[in-house]
Amino acid sequence: MAAAGTGALVEDLDAPLSARVGGTTAAKLEAELDLRTVRDLLWHLPRRYAERGQLTPVSSLAEGDDVTVVAQVQRVSGPRQMKSRRGAMLEVWVGDGRTELLLTFFAKGLGPLNHHARQLPVGTRALFAGKVQTYRRGAQRVLQLVHPEHRPLPEDAPDAVGEQFAAQPMPIYPATAKVRSWDVAAALSVVLTSLGDVDDAVPPGIAEREGLPSAADALRWVHQPRTKEEWQRGLERFRYEEAFVLQASLAQRRHAAARETATPRPARLDGLLAALDARLPFELTAGQRGVGEAIAADLAATSPMQRLLQGEVGSGKTLVALRAMLTVVDAGGQAALLAPTEVLAGQHLRSITAMLGDLALGGQLGAAEQATQVVLLTGSMPAAARRRALLAAASGEAGIVIGTHALLEEHVQFADLGLVVVDEQHRFGVEQRDALRSKAATSPHVLVMTATPIPRTVAMTVFGDLETSTLRELPPGRAPISTHVVPLAQRPEWIDRVFARIAEEAADGHQVYVVCPRIGGEDAPAAPGEDGKRPPLAVEDVVAQVRAHPATAALRTEVLHGRLATEEKEDVVRRFAARELDVVVATTVVEVGVDVPTATLMVIMDAERFGISQLHQLRGRVGRGGLPGTCLLVTEAAGASRVVERLRAVEATTDGFELARVDLEQRREGDVLGAAQSGRRSSLRVLSVLDDVDLITRARADATAVVAQDPELRGHPGLAAAIADRVGAEQRRFLERA
Ligand code: ADP
Ligand code: MG
Repeated sequence: MAAAGTGALVEDLDAPLSARVGGTTAAKLEAELDLRTVRDLLWHLPRRYAERGQLTPVSSLAEGDDVTVVAQVQRVSGPRQMKSRRGAMLEVWVGDGRTELLLTFFAKGLGPLNHHARQLPVGTRALFAGKVQTYRRGAQRVLQLVHPEHRPLPEDAPDAVGEQFAAQPMPIYPATAKVRSWDVAAALSVVLTSLGDVDDAVPPGIAEREGLPSAADALRWVHQPRTKEEWQRGLERFRYEEAFVLQASLAQRRHAAARETATPRPARLDGLLAALDARLPFELTAGQRGVGEAIAADLAATSPMQRLLQGEVGSGKTLVALRAMLTVVDAGGQAALLAPTEVLAGQHLRSITAMLGDLALGGQLGAAEQATQVVLLTGSMPAAARRRALLAAASGEAGIVIGTHALLEEHVQFADLGLVVVDEQHRFGVEQRDALRSKAATSPHVLVMTATPIPRTVAMTVFGDLETSTLRELPPGRAPISTHVVPLAQRPEWIDRVFARIAEEAADGHQVYVVCPRIGGEDAPAAPGEDGKRPPLAVEDVVAQVRAHPATAALRTEVLHGRLATEEKEDVVRRFAARELDVVVATTVVEVGVDVPTATLMVIMDAERFGISQLHQLRGRVGRGGLPGTCLLVTEAAGASRVVERLRAVEATTDGFELARVDLEQRREGDVLGAAQSGRRSSLRVLSVLDDVDLITRARADATAVVAQDPELRGHPGLAAAIADRVGAEQRRFLERA
């Protein structure tokens, strides 16, 4: 046959599973686990390995999980007829030697239950699969599986093949109620038995240097290991492979972007930018100047800029972005600024027009000579204003268009879009960036800004197609923010001091934010949750407290949250900034961008409900106008708990990068990547952005070199197929969400 001379036939990894495991099984694997191809199944890696003599710790089981556990039958009760209901039940207690797990079986009569009881005599060790439930027995909470499926362990099975077989580690797969771990293992066994050569995604030279087994060996080792060492070495390979394939796909993206053509927008010395610089009331920081030069060089090039600008809250990113936008306007193009919320878009409009003054009055009386127009475009604008904005964008009269995701809509047109600035990237996905990019004749330059400090590996993984610049210093003269945990669990009376502090700030003519985890009304259960704790504090309740407390009753207090109409929101922000309000009780809508220089106190209620980055971001809202800021983290959580440790970390440092590291350590990786990427779920399977820093760095260098030599990957069919599969899966996820 075709493969003569090369040994076995090359496996078609993209063949449908039905061609290998039969239609019924294939349909179940697709419906339950989204496994469609031979590749999908082979790369469905075990979640963990069970070992002989090692029972699954029952305490590790969580309610609601579909689990497969290894356990031993301790005692059996029944079967017996039930008293309160018709029918019979059987209770089997299994355990790991410390904690017991209850298996409950129900049936109409005793017959079927006797069958289970015969299969599960005391001492049997077996695999049990089912959904974990909790069940109250008097004061006790018991974990149980109702009607679990069970399989005796190989060593106890009548057809066991002896000691050696029984000693093998047993892969436990991510599974569901309809497709059990052992069903996955059975399907894999069919596929592995006839497996041909596997086209390796990792080139042999690299595999050798890394000491990695071939793909075919690694697949056998992870799915049918004979020893612990085998599956460990197998997983090692998949870890590298995952990083390598991801980095190669990012390298291809960068390579393709570099070949796109952009209109160069060289800086002018006598334009709007020069006019703005001349009237700034302060000096640019060294960081702003350095990043500004890098951006100017990018903008003058014929390939589109792809740059990520990260910097602490208040580090002056908006000015950097504005200077980039003016460079493009000076060169005859337009710039779009994309903000994640309407409040933030409105805020940007105000601060940018304020900085520009008469430079932004293009087409109006009293405008400066080169003046341009700055327009706002959001989804909730009145029709007439919206039409005007659309026209100004399409005609080119507006040099700067600021908006929300409404800017992405199809009918929004630009005369000559040269630059797209995306604020707070973590709320925008790659797809949105591409949608905006498609609005220009040539590819626009792209600048992405984020205040969430991103550790290096996350930047390499999530934003791997962007160059990164960082503003590390804050503008001089910025007053420091002092942060204090207010532990109400130990000192409940301190809540009065919180209200007193609010009153003091207001008496000095300063503004105060009070942030709560939720709005109130129907957005959460009014009754205490399952765990007996009260629901998180709501804006609606806290505003009532502020208005009722003797210290703060006389203050001018309003609420700000996502359920208000846009005009109401804008009105509150405007009055707060104009010092017509003293206190705003809000949700995290104030987290990004709201810029009120006279706000000096940030009170965060139920602070333990917020993530580290979020708390850091929130406190960045105060101390912006040269007045020292204070942040109070109010919590009822017990003093020694892990959540309070988190608050203490925020209290101890204002270094955003240090906090990002602590955050990453404490949170599950998927969350981090998910949050950093606007819902595009992390598809990392075995890779850890925290632990695999060196590996990711090596894989990035390897992948970049491979793509530079062979951009189309013609000589690397295995890698090309793995990338195509990865990209396909991402697009599927995107379409499913849309
Ligand atoms: P970011 O967007 O990074 O959070 P901003 O751009 O909103 O920060 O800047 C915060 C404040 O600092 C704004 O009021 C801005 O005018 C001011 N600012 C920016 N650059 C400087 C500078 N070089 N010196 C002094 N103040 C600055
Ligand atoms: Mg900003």
